[in-house]
Parts: sequence; C-alpha cells; structure tokens
Amino acid sequence: MSKKTEKKEEAAAPKAEAKPVKAEKPKAEKKHKEEKGAHALYKIEGDKATRLRPTCERCGTGYFMADHHDRYTCGHCGFTRYKHA
Ligand SMILES: [Zn+2]
Repeated sequence: MSKKTEKKEEAAAPKAEAKPVKAEKPKAEKKHKEEKGAHALYKIEGDKATRLRPTCERCGTGYFMADHHDRYTCGHCGFTRYKHA
C-alpha cells in the first residue's frame, strides 16, 4: 500500500502569537509647531498684507517659493533662486 506520506506542510511558519491589530500608541501630543498655511505667508500690517516669501517668477504671483537657508525654491516648477549673501 502507499507509504504514509509525511506531512510536509506542517505549519511552515510558526504562527506568531496573535498580535493586536493596532498596538495602542500613546497619543502624541499635538505639537504646536509653526503652522503652515496661507496665513503663514502673509504678514498683515495695518490693512496691508505683506508677502513673507518671494513668489516664483516663472509661475507668477500666487506661487510662493519655499524658504531654504540658502535658496528659495518653487515647489511648482522647481525653480530655484539662490539667496544673495
Ligand atoms: Zn514656479
């Protein structure tokens, strides 16, 4: 008769003990970091709004450039303008 086939598929991977689907993380306190948003790009002086960032000269007004330590870059077109020392 047929040999007794050894059971090969014997729980190939040992089952890890059931992990809770989501480990409860301690809720990180919301840090009140510099909030970024349109309001961060303007400074209201009296009844005037001054732009705090340069606008992209390629994209035109409305496209602010990111302020890096040595340069400004446009996230829209990638234009980079180096700051003058
Ligand atoms: Zn641009």
